[in-house]
Amino acid sequence: MCEPDMPTDAVFEPYVYDPSLLSRAQCMGDACAVCHTKWPRPRRVLGELPDGAHVYGCDECAGIIGLQPVTAGEPLMAAR
Ligand SMILES: [Zn+2]
Repeated sequence: MCEPDMPTDAVFEPYVYDPSLLSRAQCMGDACAVCHTKWPRPRRVLGELPDGAHVYGCDECAGIIGLQPVTAGEPLMAAR
């Protein structure tokens, strides 16, 4: 009985970004939609634009906005 239950709210619903709030680079997926970092190139899909284009972000920002990396089941608190 130590298997974690799958959270029922884990279904990923893409967040739709307002393109007027993003820079051109962010709309093109060339810059992180959160912190504007262009390098390393953002590779995490953070959401999408109303036209269906993907909006990308770096791993750190994906974590900040609540997108969990694929290490499901791993405790978030790391022992120091
Ligand atoms: Zn970022």
